[in-house]
Amino acid sequence: MKKVVAMRCREYDPEAVKIKLEAAMEALGGLRQWIKPGDRVLLKVNLLTGKIPEEAVTTHPQVVIALADLLMEAGASVSIADSPAGPFSKGRLKKVYRLTGMERIESETGAKLNWNLESQEIHYSEGYRLKSFAVLQAVLETDHIINICKMKTHSMTLMTGAVKNMFGIMPGLKKAELHFRFTEPEDFAHAMVDICEYAQPTLSVMDGIDAMEGAGPSAGDIKKAGVLLVSKNPHALDAVAAKYMGVDPLQVPTLRVAEKRNLCSLSEDELEIQGVEMNGSTPFKLPDTQEPDFLERYSKWPVIGNVFRRISRKHLRPKPVLQKERCISCYECDTICPANAICMIHRRPEFIYDKCIRCYCCQEVCPEKAIWIYRPGILKRLSGS
Ligand code: SF4
Ligand code: SF4
Repeated sequence: MKKVVAMRCREYDPEAVKIKLEAAMEALGGLRQWIKPGDRVLLKVNLLTGKIPEEAVTTHPQVVIALADLLMEAGASVSIADSPAGPFSKGRLKKVYRLTGMERIESETGAKLNWNLESQEIHYSEGYRLKSFAVLQAVLETDHIINICKMKTHSMTLMTGAVKNMFGIMPGLKKAELHFRFTEPEDFAHAMVDICEYAQPTLSVMDGIDAMEGAGPSAGDIKKAGVLLVSKNPHALDAVAAKYMGVDPLQVPTLRVAEKRNLCSLSEDELEIQGVEMNGSTPFKLPDTQEPDFLERYSKWPVIGNVFRRISRKHLRPKPVLQKERCISCYECDTICPANAICMIHRRPEFIYDKCIRCYCCQEVCPEKAIWIYRPGILKRLSGS
C-alpha cells in the first residue's frame, strides 16, 4: 500500500506551509527517519522557465523555504537545483533564480543554489528505454533528492508532477533531444520513468496551492487548488494528484507505464490517502492537445483502421500556431525545437508541420504565450471534447 498525505493549504503563508509539511512528513514516519545529521540533500524544484511565483509555473519559494528549514533543523546541508528549459548556462540560471524567487532562499535559509553546469553520462542497466543518459553533477554529489514538483496540466503528458519533474536532472538541451528520440507518448513515458527510477527521490512533495490548468505547463491559467501532497512514492503521488485534478490516472502515460512496470498500482485499494478528501474538487481544464483516438476506438478492421489512423494523424492532430501580435522575436521556440520544425521568417516562427513531433516544447518556453494549440473543429466534434 503506497501512502500519500494530502494537506489543505490555501495560501503561501510561511508558518502554515511549514506546519502542514511537517505534519505530512510526520504522518509518513518523520523526516529524521530518512535524513541524518550531516546528510547532503538536494531539493529538485521545478524551475521550468523564468516566471515569477505568482504565475504558478514554478515551485513556489515558500514551499522550498519550509522544506529547507525543516531539513536544516534536522542537521542536513541543503542545495537547490534544476535545469530549466533551453540551454543550461550561468546567465539563464541567474535569470531564472532571480525571477522565480529562489535567490532570496539562499539568504533567508542558508540553502545553496546550484551553479555547477557540469554533467556526467551515467549507465543505468535497469532502464526500459534509457540505458545511459546525462545527469547534472550536483545530483551525483548528493545523498538524497527531495522532489518538489508543481501541480500542473501538461500539453504533451496531460499532467506534470513528481515523475516528470525528475526530467530536470538532465542538463539543458539534452532534454529536447530526448523528445526527438522518443516521439511516441508511451516511449517518452518509459524514459521519464527510467529517469525517476534512477534518481530514487527520498521524498516527493507537490505544490498544489496555486496550480495550473489548461495550456500547462507554462501557458495555462492559475487554479487555486489549495493542496500540498507528500509521498515517499512519486508514482502514487502523481496518481492521487491526477484524481484530484479530475484526470483518469490511466490517461496519464507515465502512470500507465509505472503500473505496467509494477512500480505502483493505480487501484483505489492500493493507494492510502491520508488527509483531505480528493473527490469533489473541480476538475482541471485540460490542454487542447489530446490526439484523435476515436478511429482507434471504432475501427474493427486493422487495414482500414491503419489508413484512417495515418490520415487522422496527418490532418486532424492539434498543432502549434503563432499569435503574431504577441511574439517578441526572442528565438526561444526556435532554440528549443528538437525536430528543427521551426523556421524563423522575419524574426517570427513558422512551423513546418510535416517535421513537427507535437512535443509542444515551443509553447512551453514562449515567454509571451504567443504560441497556442489549434485543434481542428471536426476533431472536437468527433471526439466530443
Ligand atoms: S514546432 Fe513545437 S511542437 Fe513541433 S516539434 Fe518543434 S517544439 Fe515541438
Ligand atoms: S513565438 Fe514566443 S518563443 Fe517564439 S520567438 Fe516569439 S515570443 Fe519568442
